[in-house]
Parts: sequence; structure tokens; C-alpha cells
Amino acid sequence: KRTITRLPEWLKTPIPSAGSNPNFAKIKADLRGLGLHTVCEEARCPNIGECWGGSAGGKAAATATIMLMGDTCTRGCRFCSVKTSRAPPPLDPHEPENTAEALARWGLGYVVLTSVDRDDLADGGARHFAETIRKIKVKKPTMLVEALTGDFGGDLDMVKIVAESGLDVYAHNVETVEGLTPYVRDRRATFRQSLKVLQHVKEVRGKEGIITKTSIMLGLGETEEELWETLKELRKADVDVVTFGQYMRPTKRHLKVERYVTPEEFELWRQRALDMGFLYCASGPLVRSSYKAGEAFIENVLR
Ligand code: SF4
Ligand code: SF4
Repeated sequence: KRTITRLPEWLKTPIPSAGSNPNFAKIKADLRGLGLHTVCEEARCPNIGECWGGSAGGKAAATATIMLMGDTCTRGCRFCSVKTSRAPPPLDPHEPENTAEALARWGLGYVVLTSVDRDDLADGGARHFAETIRKIKVKKPTMLVEALTGDFGGDLDMVKIVAESGLDVYAHNVETVEGLTPYVRDRRATFRQSLKVLQHVKEVRGKEGIITKTSIMLGLGETEEELWETLKELRKADVDVVTFGQYMRPTKRHLKVERYVTPEEFELWRQRALDMGFLYCASGPLVRSSYKAGEAFIENVLR
């Protein structure tokens, strides 16, 4: 039997071109020679034109995502195409300094720092994360910094180290509803543990002291009721921002897409999230957790 997997119309997007947005072209040119590896380019993210261009917010809102601590993860989530090893190469001790230096020279307003999970390291890489953030803030204090971290195996002291490093937004993704978590994420990850991570950030920095954020993939088989429940739990943990995007299967070895959620339904969930008291919400088939994050922050937090 042959299965034909056709993408719905709304997921076929044109490749972004530099010509349409001068800011995007400038950032791309600046990036050459800085030695930075962006997730935006490496994952060929379809949002690159909008994020790097900063759209309405201009340069201050231009957002990019940088991957720290290498390209090899100690975990193996069933939706993710990052390569896995029990013992990835050691950290590059110069990475915090080099990353901060390059970012300070790059014409960007908002950076998302993310990483693979490093369960092989005693601190899970928390100090490396924190050092990078501190150095960015020293070299370019106006740069807004979001960290998108793993769960540090539930070690809240490590969460604290990152939370206290001077960042503006702490993101940690629950990825899916509680019932699907064992099938979707690595077995070391649990929904409750992720909630605790997000909650702890608020305990450390105070409710108003920092923005917390999480992301949920739709189309994995979650029910409407489960999604409502998830949003309630997130609000109880004082999570400020939620994003929804369509799960896309990276290869045939990964979980299959149960359903393509329509743009209208994404919009409905965005409205529902706002009605529940989330500060802002990006929701759409191509939305990733860092989608136009700078613009959203400037519009909803700084104003
Ligand atoms: Fe980069 Fe994230 Fe924007 Fe994609 S959504 S271009 S990965 S910042
Ligand atoms: Fe991918 Fe993150 Fe899971 Fe590692 S922990 S496999 S990088 S989703």
C-alpha cells in the first residue's frame, strides 16, 4: 500500500528572499565571518525573513536563535531530528565569550539562546548558559535575551543559575499535553518536571521579574480537552507566554503527524490563550517557539 502524504496548502511557503527586506539582507551579510551558527539557517526555518527582518519593530525587534553546546544531544525525543549520543564532545570553553562578542557586533535586537540537552555534564550546561548570557549583557546591554533550556533533569538549582544570569525571558517547552509526553519526549522528560522548571523561574525572579514561556506542538493526537487542561496547568504555574505550532515529521523514523491543524484553529487557540490571561501568544502552522519573539516582547512587555 502506498501512502501519499500531501501537505495542506497553508504549509507550502515560499523560501524567504533577502531582496524583500533590507534589514534581513544586512543581518545575513553581517553573519558571515562572525562564526555564529543559527538554528534559523541550519533548520532552514521558513520564518527567517520575518524574524530577522524584525518586520514592524525594525532592527530592535530582529530575532535569531543560536544553538549552544554543540549539535549532539544526550536525549532522543521522538519528534526531533538532532543527533544523539551518550557522550557528546566536551564544551568549547570559549563559546560564551565568542558568542557574546559576535552577537554584540551583529545588528540584532533579540536573541534566543538554546541548546541540546547535556545530561552528561554535572550541571547540565547551566553555567555555560549563564556565562554566555552575562557576557552578552556586558557587551551589549540593550540586547534582549531569551534562553530556551531543557529541564536539567529536574535539578532546580541549575534552573536557578540560568534564571539569575540576567536574561529577559526564560523559555522551556512542554512540547505536548501530559498524556502524550511519554510517547513524544525522551523518557527522562515529564510534563510535571517541566512545569516545575517554569514555576521555579518565577520563584527565583518573582512573578513580575521575568517572562516565562512555553511551546506546544499541535497535530500529535492531543484532544481539545487535553489542551484546555494543559493551558490551565501552565497558567497555574504563572507561565506568561505560550506558542502553538504544527508538528512536522522530520523523517520517516519519527512520530507521524496525526493531523494538520487549520490556520483557523490555530487562531482559535490563540484567542483562547489570551482569554485565559496569557500575556501574548503566537499561534500558527509555521510558528516555532522563537517566532518573531523580539517583536512580541517589545509590543507586549516594553510598552
Ligand atoms: Fe529563527 Fe526561530 Fe524565527 Fe525560525 S522562528 S527564523 S528559528 S528565530
Ligand atoms: Fe531534541 Fe531537545 Fe529532545 Fe534533545 S532534548 S532530542 S534537542 S528536543
